[in-house]
Amino acid sequence: MLEPTYQADVVVVGAGIAGLSAARRLTSAGVTTVVLEAAHEVGGRMATETVDGFRLDRVGRLLSTAYPELRRAPGLDGLVLRPFDPGVLLHSDGRHHRAGVQQRGARSARGALHAVRALAGAPRPGGGPRRPVAVPGRQVSVPRSRSGAPLGTAVDQARLGAALTRLAGTPVERLLSRPELPAAEALVARGLPARTIDGFLRPLLTALLCDPDLTTSSRCADLALHAFASGRLCLPEGGAEALPQQLARTLPPGTVHTGVRVTSVSTTSVTTAEHGEFRCGAVLVATGARAAAELLPGLRVPGFHPVTVVHHTTDEPPATGASLLLDADRGGPVAHTAVVSRVDPSRAPAGRTLVTSTVLGVPAPGVDTAVRMHLARLYGVPTARWETLAVRHTAEAVPAMRPPHDLRRSVRLLAGLYVCGDHRDTGSVQGALHSAHRAAAAVLADLGVSGSLHSVEPVPTARAA
Ligand SMILES: Cc1cc2nc3c(=O)[nH]c(=O)nc-3n(C[C@H](O)[C@H](O)[C@H](O)COP(=O)(O)OP(=O)(O)OC[C@H]3O[C@@H](n4cnc5c(N)ncnc54)[C@H](O)[C@@H]3O)c2cc1C
Repeated sequence: MLEPTYQADVVVVGAGIAGLSAARRLTSAGVTTVVLEAAHEVGGRMATETVDGFRLDRVGRLLSTAYPELRRAPGLDGLVLRPFDPGVLLHSDGRHHRAGVQQRGARSARGALHAVRALAGAPRPGGGPRRPVAVPGRQVSVPRSRSGAPLGTAVDQARLGAALTRLAGTPVERLLSRPELPAAEALVARGLPARTIDGFLRPLLTALLCDPDLTTSSRCADLALHAFASGRLCLPEGGAEALPQQLARTLPPGTVHTGVRVTSVSTTSVTTAEHGEFRCGAVLVATGARAAAELLPGLRVPGFHPVTVVHHTTDEPPATGASLLLDADRGGPVAHTAVVSRVDPSRAPAGRTLVTSTVLGVPAPGVDTAVRMHLARLYGVPTARWETLAVRHTAEAVPAMRPPHDLRRSVRLLAGLYVCGDHRDTGSVQGALHSAHRAAAAVLADLGVSGSLHSVEPVPTARAA
């Protein structure tokens, strides 16, 4: 039990990854910190439930090993990231095509050429042709030609490969100085061929941004593509909750209090529904955007992208390896899907298969049936006998980032009153962690504490499964 008169230097409201990461930075600078969380668990949107031994994420999590804050945020050095197979698998016309395979650090003309070959399915130096992967099942066959569909002609593919390689080598500051448009318009304005846009970039960005209409700012889209081109898509081992739990474990005992809802805040105190008032030297509101605006009237509430995640198990796993599968034909509700137990075997009991699929937007009634029908086409196997483990819908999953989007929204409202969370940066794990980094720096500066804020802690390793 907490004493109503409890004193701390800083009270953090919300134990999502932003609040926990900020608390970690504050406590390591010697600042006494209390984190108050309304729910009975830490993690916020990064929740994982266990059903029959399966580890099911509420979020269809796609992280990148290139997210800078996964390297920088103190407390995440024990996090294990499980990489997907390189690039993505694109489904088009009953076939699978691997796309977006990048050479890490390939910035020279020679490097770019190699990346283009990999993308184009052309022969690799010293190796055989990189052929598209056939969808297993009787109705499809391995294409004999070097058809690049849905990536377009060899020239289209070369341009795409060069563009991705260039993007990987472009400093983030340069990306952020480009003119800002809705992402869908920017793709066309940059002169890329329609087939490359529709067959690869649109489905990829839709999945990365959780935005089916690509109304997101082109700057956020560029950042997402930059992370894709310079790293590997990955999942946290054990489920999305591994990330907040790892952060919580590194806090001094007694820092986090769950089941405590904050009802109002000021620069020197917070009031809670359950335990009265807490006195403190500063308050950091680290809730989602809507709850933050309730506590801090006047704060902007953005629109949101709804996301539904569907988990299935089957005795006959599809033969797509540990790939992220996208539908270039947009022939159903699934934006992306993967045999997640191949990427991270700890998410399913031994010998069992977990397939996780993500639907964007408001789902139609009977979404599970529509998802199964779509998955049958995507994987090329019957899915009628697949068992549904869970269907989880989150209406306010990801804050919309329409242009003009301020990627560095203020985190210091007044001396003593601060705000962080994904709605202050980008609607992503990277954005939530980065906003926490900025907010903790602002709190420490105002408290006159010189912390080791910018020290780089050990990098979480992306270990191959
Ligand atoms: C379905 C889905 C899919 C997603 N896909 C991706 C993806 O592919 N890639 C990616 O990078 N990101 C993705 N995201 C976004 C990512 O999960 C979020 O950006 C991130 O988790 C936000 O963390 P946060 O700490 O800012 O907020 P939250 O996780 O929302 O944490 C806020 C916390 O504050 C608590 N709280 C609220 N009000 C109060 C109060 N009054 N008192 C006390 N506590 C309170 C809440 O209970 C919660 O625990 C997805 C999110 C969802 C839901």
